[in-house]
Amino acid sequence: FASKLPNAKTTIFTTVGNLARKHNAVDLSQGFPNFEVDEKLKSLVTDAMQNGHNQYAAMQGYYGLREIISQKIEKLHNRVYNPETEIMVTVGATQAIFTAITAFVNKGDEVIVLKPAYDCYEPAITLNGGIPIYVQLDADGYQVNWEIFKSKISERTRMVIINTPHNPSGRVFSKEDMLQLQEILRPTNCIVLSDEVYEHIIFDGNEHQSASRFKDLAQRSFVCASFGKTFHVTGWKMGYCAAPAELMQEFRKTHQFAVFCVDHPVQRAMAAYLKNEENYLSLPSFYQEKRDLFLEGLKDSRFKFKPSEGTYFQLLDYTEITKENDEDFAKRLIVDYKLASIPISSFNDDHRQDGVLRFCFAKKNETLEQALKILKSL
Ligand code: PMP
Ligand code: GLN
Repeated sequence: FASKLPNAKTTIFTTVGNLARKHNAVDLSQGFPNFEVDEKLKSLVTDAMQNGHNQYAAMQGYYGLREIISQKIEKLHNRVYNPETEIMVTVGATQAIFTAITAFVNKGDEVIVLKPAYDCYEPAITLNGGIPIYVQLDADGYQVNWEIFKSKISERTRMVIINTPHNPSGRVFSKEDMLQLQEILRPTNCIVLSDEVYEHIIFDGNEHQSASRFKDLAQRSFVCASFGKTFHVTGWKMGYCAAPAELMQEFRKTHQFAVFCVDHPVQRAMAAYLKNEENYLSLPSFYQEKRDLFLEGLKDSRFKFKPSEGTYFQLLDYTEITKENDEDFAKRLIVDYKLASIPISSFNDDHRQDGVLRFCFAKKNETLEQALKILKSL
């Protein structure tokens, strides 16, 4: 048979994760926390099970959860999404992204992807017959050159995918970036897929500029979020997206036949847990402390870095240590030094080499200390 994804390999997260386990390495590769989940959140799930919420939820998601998501977005970004028609609960952000692409991208449509990019966008575009059009972020600061971006837009452009805070660079879009995007898209019919899974992990007093904050941008955007990232439960695979009713109606048609609905007891728990704003508003200081501990420990090392502005990832430039490509160096770090990271060439167009590795600092402080010991010895 002819593969629909002839160029797809097993994802870098699986490959590196397996190698890390085999060599018993300190694992800062795949993005997930290795500390315990809040007991209150866990007991809210068991409560929901005990209270009989064990059958299908509503197709769009449990209404109480959609309602509180809507309130949260209004409070943070001053935009009202109708919980009945404009919010959907999904199996992580991954399913929201896949569903939005499937619902809107037709054969031959172009989709703009900023590279380096998280790995789930392009296969979804390709499976739907779309054509990814790359705009490379500069390796120095991972900024968007909006002139180049604009030059890639054509009448075939159906969708633009953005991601802020950005995985893997840790860069955060400024208000100016969002306004530029809004202006460039004004004369077009492009839909925006705004991957905001790290919306609450942002540092140095900076504010997350959600696509939902900008009136004209919000009119054409799917804003995707992840409870896995926000509440340290990546294994629960739950997220949501928000979009104007007209777009969401189309999204739902695909969603209902892909998954129909999402885990019911977890939705009940999320609805109750979201009521306490501290559960997400405390994230910037919680993760900034970890970022700072990690970077403080690297001060006298041979790695160079710009502090991550958001996400729980830090890029480290290793070019003073070796001229190896990032895949070889990442592998050698696991096998010889027992430390796992992600080579970002796998997120880059043509596997461009930036001479950096990505490290996840969503880890217990003792894990970060173990990693620092190894990094300082290089
Ligand atoms: N987008 C980005 C940028 C990510 O890093 C991830 C990984 N969590 C996802 C989407 C997928 O999120 P989820 O685990 O909720 O499916
Ligand atoms: N988003 C996580 C990361 O970038 C991994 C998710 C996955 O394994 N697909 O590390």
